[in-house]
Parts: sequence; structure tokens; C-alpha cells
Amino acid sequence: MTVKKADLDFANLPFAYMKTDFNVRYTWRDGAWDAGELSDSEFIPLHMAATALHYGQECFEGLKAFETKDGEVVVFRIEENAKRMADSCRKILMAAPPEELFIEAVYRAINANRRFVPPYGSGASLYIRPLVIGTGPKVGVAPTDQYMFLVFVTPAGPYFKTGFAPVHLIVEEEVDRAASLGVGDVKVGGNYAAGMRASMAAKKAGYTEVLFLDAKEKAYIDESGPANFFGITAEGQYVTPLSPSILPSITNKSLITIAQDMGLNPLRRPIHVEEIFELAEAGCCGTAAVITPVGSITWGDRKVVYGDGRTPQPKVTELYQRLTSIQCGDAPDPHGWVRVVPEE
Ligand SMILES: *Cc1c(COP(=O)(O)O)cnc(C)c1O
Repeated sequence: MTVKKADLDFANLPFAYMKTDFNVRYTWRDGAWDAGELSDSEFIPLHMAATALHYGQECFEGLKAFETKDGEVVVFRIEENAKRMADSCRKILMAAPPEELFIEAVYRAINANRRFVPPYGSGASLYIRPLVIGTGPKVGVAPTDQYMFLVFVTPAGPYFKTGFAPVHLIVEEEVDRAASLGVGDVKVGGNYAAGMRASMAAKKAGYTEVLFLDAKEKAYIDESGPANFFGITAEGQYVTPLSPSILPSITNKSLITIAQDMGLNPLRRPIHVEEIFELAEAGCCGTAAVITPVGSITWGDRKVVYGDGRTPQPKVTELYQRLTSIQCGDAPDPHGWVRVVPEE
């Protein structure tokens, strides 16, 4: 079935929220998830004492749907997002949607908004944002017994208007994103609240994003604001930080597999910040931007520039091309990452 597309300039969409037709909401009450329902409202009724508002019982996910050249709608590694959301929920003591429920909810949200899936070749995608929030009232600090699991979608253009072009990072030394035994390894909103002032200060100073260090020793690279970090060493090895306070990026996990396919001998290990000067190439990765080539990193009064700082470097570019062509169904999917969204 082909759907008449929404009247949008799909090729020039920003990476921003836009209203679509429906979102889907499930409620956890009396120890179980309900059957969920579609809503055409952009608002949620919320108790003023909800634990999401006071004690940060909130987590989210982000994934994308693409239209293939055959007109099918596909999602990338949705099972991984389902597992990670369950991990996030469990870590902050919220009810976790089971994997099947997560997938059902995402498919319902996509199917209810098929006309917003950007056409093949537009460079845009349907960005999917699932979230779980504690909705029950509590004044004393404790988990609640009521949760909402909501999925909304929004058609989105590339994360950076400049497209696949190098960005400029600054090593953050004043602010920690996440403590080593904290919640940096799960996708909870509180981590973003903690890092926001650092990101905003970096942007004001002319950088694209910060590079956070580990909070304990302030010596090893953790990740960038909303994205993991990786480098290509002078010997041509894909390296990415190993740390308890990094969000396990599904994009990074996929790039590690692709790097293996490319013979880049990928390795997760602690990366000392001094090593930025030895890397041949660097990149940031996450669902929103897929890969962002890094043009330069500033650390105090020192700075390293990769290549000429303006041109994406070869390995980073090949990783990007390989991953994006699998995601949109243009290349074979040897690792079984892509799922066709069944029509209802
Ligand atoms: C979501 C996120 C990422 C990227 O993860 P993907 O699964 O690749 O989208 C990286 N870092 C942080 C802090 C995140 O929240």
C-alpha cells in the first residue's frame, strides 16, 4: 500500500520536532502494562507530584525509520533499542516495557504516521522517540507504581545543517557528565541536564560540542555530549573508549562490526586524552547524526587538527557510507540489522 505523503519539503527538513498525526501511549498500573492507545494530542496529563518531574524517573530512546527504494519502511536494530530502554528503566527502578511491547509500540507509531516517513532519497528520516516516565505522585523519594510509555515520531532532516562535514570539539574539564558508578551508561534525561551547561558554553565559544572526560581521573575520554567518540589510530585501528560512564551507542556497536569487516581491528579500551594527538582520524557517532567527522579537538591551550580540518577523512567516510547504505536498504544487510515495518 502506498500512502499519500504529507505536504512537506522533505529534502529541507530541520532536525526538530514537528507535529504528526498520532503518538501511542501505554500505562503501567496495578503491576501491568495496558493495551495502549493512539492519541492525537501533543500533551500528556501529568500529576504535579509525578516522580518524573521531581526525582528524574525518566528515560528515552532514539531510532530512525527510512523508506527504501522499494517503498518499504525499515528500522535499524530496533531490538537493541528495546533492550537498552529496559536497562535504563531497571537502573532507575521504573517498570520496563518488554521487548515485544517496545517493538509493537514503535510499529504502531510509525504505521499511524506513514505519510510522514520521508521519501527514499530525500536524505531525511522519521525520527522515533520512545520515552518512559514515572507518572504516579510521590513526595518522599521512592519509585512510583505508575508509569507511562509513550512513542512519538517526527520527520527529521540531517542533525547538522552542514551535513557530513567535520565538527570542532573542546575537551571539557570543568563539568562532569556522569559519575563512574552513576547513570551515564543508561539513557536517562538527567545525564543531559548535567551536561547541558558545558555544551552550551562550548557552543558559545565557537565549538560544536564538548568531549567529556571520565569523572574519576579526568584523564580518559568518555564521550561527546549526545554521541560516542571513536578514533582511527596511525596504524589504522578503530579505537573507542571503554568506560563505565559511557552510553552504549548502538551506532558505535554497529561501526565496530563494520570496522571488523573493513579490517580495522576494532578495540574498546580506555583512551587517554593525550592520545588525541596521535590519532589519524576521529569521529562522533549516534543515531541522530550517524557519524560526525571530527575536524579538530582543543584541549586547554593545545589543539589537534585532523587532515585539513575541513575535509572528512577516508576511514571515517567509508564507515559512514557503509553504515548509512545498510540503514536505508541500499546495501545488503549481512548482519541482520534491518527490519521491515509490517503494515497493520
Ligand atoms: C543516545 C546516545 C548516544 C548514541 O547512541 P545510539 O544508540 O548510537 O543512538 C550516545 N551518547 C549518549 C549520551 C546518548 O544519549
